[in-house]
Amino acid sequence: MPLRLSADILQLKTRHPFVIARGSQDVYRTVAIRLADETGLEGWGEAAPQRFYGETPETVLAALEVYATVLPENPLHLEDAEARFEQTLSGNNSARAALSAALHDLAGKRLGVPVHRLLGLDPGRCPISTFTIGIDTPERMRMKVREAEAYPVLKIKLGTSDDLGILRAIREATPKEIRVDANCGWTRKQAIRMLPILEEFGVTVLEQPLAPDDLEGLAQVTRSSRIPVIADESCLTARDIPPLVGKVDGINLKLAKTGSLREALRMIAVARASHLMVMVGCMIETSVGITAAAQVGPLVDICDLDGAALLASDPYAGATIEGGQLRLPEGPGLGLSRR
Ligand code: MG
Repeated sequence: MPLRLSADILQLKTRHPFVIARGSQDVYRTVAIRLADETGLEGWGEAAPQRFYGETPETVLAALEVYATVLPENPLHLEDAEARFEQTLSGNNSARAALSAALHDLAGKRLGVPVHRLLGLDPGRCPISTFTIGIDTPERMRMKVREAEAYPVLKIKLGTSDDLGILRAIREATPKEIRVDANCGWTRKQAIRMLPILEEFGVTVLEQPLAPDDLEGLAQVTRSSRIPVIADESCLTARDIPPLVGKVDGINLKLAKTGSLREALRMIAVARASHLMVMVGCMIETSVGITAAAQVGPLVDICDLDGAALLASDPYAGATIEGGQLRLPEGPGLGLSRR
């Protein structure tokens, strides 16, 4: 009996409107998928499509109809399955990532082991995750900092017309470690001007200061920076890493960009071979997407898996970042349940 694929669009609300350099939103739509086998086992996955990368929930549903025609006979043949999806219809990375997560979940359940164990990883090695404070008025940002009391490391979104005001508001509210993401919001000149300010405010990581294709600019910023510079929007899959070597200090991988868990592992291998730091990040998504990404947590230096923690309510339970510490569930597969 072949696997059966079903998919539903989820409407997710964040606790606060989530503002980054590209705009603001408080309703997010992701696609929850289920792969059922003949024994009644189900694998779960989630696609978090981003317009920035050319996907919407509707393109995900359309792509899934195509992938449904090439589902594997045996869900344990994960490499073959993922390769076949990509050969059948390339792009559509968040749709393929959802299938990858669901297949890994199903494979783990069939074998009765958690996915992190299938990958040979020690869940005790997961780093602390940041918690993101979206762009807001200084007063509301101070309130959000108070709400984030349990999280020891904060991530601040910059790339606005008042980055200095934001840094001041955060620093007045807390002495915690802060990391910064400019989401492509600066020019080379602005980025270089910001570097001493970021240092003064004790920022420890700088994510994607410049436009995705400005690799020479990234190299210039990295050379001038004492703070590690991480490529996010410039780095989707392993093939984007070689051109970044020597130009940034690390890469941020996200399943919605990589298209699969196994591509995430390849990215980690390529990054490590190139002496780059590795960060794992996420989109606004439920615990299904977060838990899939969290499986590679033991392999990364920097963790930013707060997507579900930022939601007003999460229909699923899985990996958690309570108190900042990323914890993986011990159940078979992804170890997910419905709340
Ligand atoms: Mg980022």
